[in-house]
This record gives sequence, C-alpha cells and structure tokens, in this order.
Amino acid sequence: MKLIIIGGVTGGASAAARARRLSEDAEIILIERGPDVSFANCGLPYHIGNVIPDRNKLLVVTPQRLRERFRLDVRVNSNVTAIDPVAKTITIAQRDGKTAVETWDKIILAPGAAPIRPAWPGVDLPGVFTLRNLQDMDRIKGAVDRGAKRAVMIGGGFIGLELVENFVARGVQTTLVERNQQVLGPFDAEMTTPITEALIQHGVQVLFGETTMAIESQDGALAVRLETGKLLPTDLVVMGLGVRPENVLAVQAGLEVGPRGGIRVNEFLQTSHPDIYAVGDAIEVRDFVSGDPTQVPLAGPANRQGRIAADNVLGRKSRYRGTQGTAILGAFGKTAAMTGASEKMLQRSGRPYRAIYVHPADHAGYYPGAEGMTLKVLFDPETGKLLGAQGIGGNGVDKRIDVLAVALQAGMTVYDLEQMELCYSPQYGSAKDPVNMAGFVAAGLLRGDHPQISLPELRSLPPERFPWLVDVRLPEEYAAGHLPDAVNIPVDELRSRLAEIPTDREVVTYCQVGQRGYLATRILLQAGYRVRNLSGGYRTYLLFSRTHH
Ligand code: FAD
Repeated sequence: MKLIIIGGVTGGASAAARARRLSEDAEIILIERGPDVSFANCGLPYHIGNVIPDRNKLLVVTPQRLRERFRLDVRVNSNVTAIDPVAKTITIAQRDGKTAVETWDKIILAPGAAPIRPAWPGVDLPGVFTLRNLQDMDRIKGAVDRGAKRAVMIGGGFIGLELVENFVARGVQTTLVERNQQVLGPFDAEMTTPITEALIQHGVQVLFGETTMAIESQDGALAVRLETGKLLPTDLVVMGLGVRPENVLAVQAGLEVGPRGGIRVNEFLQTSHPDIYAVGDAIEVRDFVSGDPTQVPLAGPANRQGRIAADNVLGRKSRYRGTQGTAILGAFGKTAAMTGASEKMLQRSGRPYRAIYVHPADHAGYYPGAEGMTLKVLFDPETGKLLGAQGIGGNGVDKRIDVLAVALQAGMTVYDLEQMELCYSPQYGSAKDPVNMAGFVAAGLLRGDHPQISLPELRSLPPERFPWLVDVRLPEEYAAGHLPDAVNIPVDELRSRLAEIPTDREVVTYCQVGQRGYLATRILLQAGYRVRNLSGGYRTYLLFSRTHH
C-alpha cells in the first residue's frame, strides 16, 4: 500500500501518524508545500503578542521527528501541482525547481483552506497581511516589533479577535472593522455583547456595519478606506475575512466539490474517487444538527477526520459523525463558546425551536472569585432534544459548553440535563450546576410548569396583545433600570398585591436573571393568571439592548 498525504499540518499529520500506527508495512509519503509540518496554527496570534515568546514551541513536531518516530517519508517545500486519478500519479514541484512524479494506491487530501483575499485595491501593499502559517506570523510580528503603533483588523471572527487582543497586549492601537453588526458571526448577536464591551473597554475602536473598499498608501503609512467614506490611517492591516477551501487539485482531478468549494466526501471521508479521501478545512461536512452540507474550519474536526480517513484507507470502517461547530474564543478575560445550531441558523432553516437563558455563577457564590456567565440553550419544542448552546462569561464557560456538546452529540434532551451528575465543590461549581439549571428552566418550559417568553417574542407582540409587564425585583433594582412600561411589585409582596394585577390580560413577569420571575410565575399561575416569565430576565434584556455601533 502506497499512501500519499497532501498537506502536512493538522489533518495531514494526524492521518499520517494514525496510518503508521495501523500499518508498519504501508509506504507513507507526507507532502507539504511550506517548510513546516504539524505546526500549531492556533498558537500563531499568541506569538505575535509575546504570550508564547519562543517561536519553536509552535513547531509541535519537526519533519525529522516524524521520520524517526513514524518512519514517514516527509517532503517539505514540495507543492503537489496535479493528481492524475486514472494513471494514479501525482506531480510535485520541489523547491529546487525540479518536478517529481509519484505513483499512489490511495491519497488523503489535507490541503486546508486559504484566507480570503478580496479584490480591493491595495491588498498587495506592504503592511497588509493575512494569517495562516508561521511565515505570515513572522511578517506580522516583524511589523509590530519594528514599532507599528496602529493596526486595523478587518473581520471580527475568531482569528481577528485573537489578533486584536494580542495587538493590544503589544501596545498597538487597534481598530476593528466588521461588516456585520456583531463580532463572532456564528454566535447569536446578543451573546457577543460582553465581548464587544470588553474590546471597547480595552481601547479598541470597534466599527460595525462598515465595509472596506480599498487600502491606500499614505505618507509612508497605510490607510483603510471604508464605503461610508471614513479613512483609517494605520501602520498595518490584517484581513481576517474567513477562509476558502484549497480545492484546486481536487477540481482539476475531477473530484466533486460543493457550491462553496468544499471537497465532497461521504461519511467515510471518501471523495467521489474511491481511492482518494479528504479531510479538514478543505472538505464539505455534514452539519450535525441540520444534516445539511456545510464547511467548518476547525482543528478538532480536522484532527479527528485525519484519523478516520487513515482508518478507512487501511481497511477499518470508520464513520465521521458530522461537525457540531464546537468552538471557543478567549479575549480580554472573557470566554465565548458554542456548540451546535445558533438561533439565527434555526430561524433560517425554519426549524422549530425554543430558547432559554440562564445566568448562573461558575461556582458557589460564597466561595471567592465566583464569576457570572450566561448560557443560552436551544432545543426542540416537542421532544426537548438539544439543538445548540452558547455561553459567554469567564471561568467555567468552556466546561459547560463541553458538557452540552457531549450531550448534543449523544442526542440528549433538556430532561437529561436536569439529571446530569457533574462534579461539585464550592471552588468548581454548584450543587445545581449551570448545566442542571439550564435543564430545569428548559424542561420547566416544556412541562408547562414554567411558561416563558423570549425577549424577541415579547417585542414582536402587537399592541393589542402586549402583556402586563411586572418587574418583581426590589424597588432599588427597578429604579436602576427596567423594561419600558413595567410595573414594580417585588416578589415578596406579590401574594398580598394580586388585586393590582389585571386578570383580562396576559402577564409577563421578570426579575434580574429569571429565578424570582419563575417564583412569581408559579404564584400567579396558581392564582389563575395567564402568565409567562421573561427568559433570562433583565440581564438578557441588557444583552439585547446594549448596542455598540
Ligand atoms: P491546515 O492545517 O491548514 O494544513 C493544510 C496544509 O496543506 C498547509 O500547510 C498547506 O501548505 C498544505 N498544502 C495545501 N495545498 C498543498 C499542495 N498542493 N501540496 C502540498 N501541500 C499543500 N481551529 C480551532 O479549532 N481552534 C483554534 O483556536 C484555531 N485557531 C486558529 C488560529 C489561526 C491563526 C489559524 C490560521 C487557524 C486556527 N484554527 C483554529 C483553524 C485550524 O488551524 C484549522 O481548522 C486546521 O488547521 C485545519 O487543518 P487542515 O489539515 O485542514 O489544514
């Protein structure tokens, strides 16, 4: 068996190592266009910020190491320029200018995805960068080391925000230009509010709804010209506009690709050619929740796919289950994480869902250092099956989203979340873990014990059906800010003040985070009222209401 793996970083290196573990006999050639294999893409922004000062730490495994430990034929600085699917050969352009031809029995394609470079005038000016590999990183870091004082980051995705944080750490005055009205596109907008606020608090100029038109050279520096006419003078520009699958080889070889360019594979990661497999950012995957084809450029899926493709090449049937899009960002002390479908994705696909919010602390409030978080859980309104979850806060968000990611993949429901037994002592969690809390709130909604309304639903009600809003917090909390038209009756006075509440209208209760509102709902339900609690209370209202553009 002669296996050729094209692309030697995340998916490719993982496939190569797995293939060797399964077969001592296979001839395995790992071909990489660049000078490095298996480097830590995800660590690149942190070397720029000097968080990882030693560049060598990013070279997870050297070609030498792969040769010694896995007996791989590793060829760096070698670009595969063609695959002949009939003659079963590939052509390789080597750095010495020579061309080599290799035969193959099987191929695993792991060429990744390239940063999108728009056709704006000026994208090729010196000082305008994208970030994919160590060489890009060296160029950006070099500019900062040479004293760049100002940076414009175009695109507020994961890599963009990581770079912004690291620029700020280096004392570079940074402007973030984002075409949408939110950072982190895969998240629902309200869940990103605390991240935007953290950016602003750290001195980042955040420009939403701004489209870049051109990059200009100006007085020895650069300037980014926006469609609105604004001109942003700067010393360096990084474009973080997403990635596009590297599919040229696949297309030339006649392999099927999807509408957005991802190489089509089946559940065994086999392309339309039975002897060619493909993994990582270059492929189209099945969305775990919707079942639809999609492209999700993440390191975890690429790694697992590498393993699975190697299994299949070497005769072990191994299926890829689809991609949930479990992702996390840490920036300026805030953590945003998600798994599965977002609300906007569910809306777009027309799939029925319900959403709840909870705002628990990461660990017992009486133990020092407790930090608040917001969890949003999306689930099927009939079965309670999990469809997606998002978390924003600080410590402990990662753990809760990981638990929810596992639950989602296992096909669990919100009723299962109620029953989950998770580790607890005061410094780590609560006897009712945030995941349990989310389960209680969601299952209470489905059982009818805790009728809830979301803020968008409340806002969409026509005036004749608009409910009587009651704020059940303390008067001082109400005085510090409340929903328009809300009447204040603290929950402890509710039973004695029922006469003040009209019986001919629906009532919506709310408190700070949802808990007192829930109790108020129970009191009013049992007194015969038609009542719902505003999910997540005033804190969720603030997430929706605070805008920064
Ligand atoms: P890659 O790892 O990109 O490897 C593809 C390799 O193939 C490239 O090195 C390329 O040179 C080579 N190649 C392409 N064509 C050819 C050819 N014709 N011949 C020879 N070689 C070829 N993901 C996360 O999950 N979490 C993170 O925190 C995270 N942070 C990131 C930060 C940055 C700055 C970047 C750039 C990415 C980050 N990612 C992160 C994404 C993650 O790195 C990718 O999803 C993952 O590396 C994809 O693996 P891959 O094997 O498909 O492609």
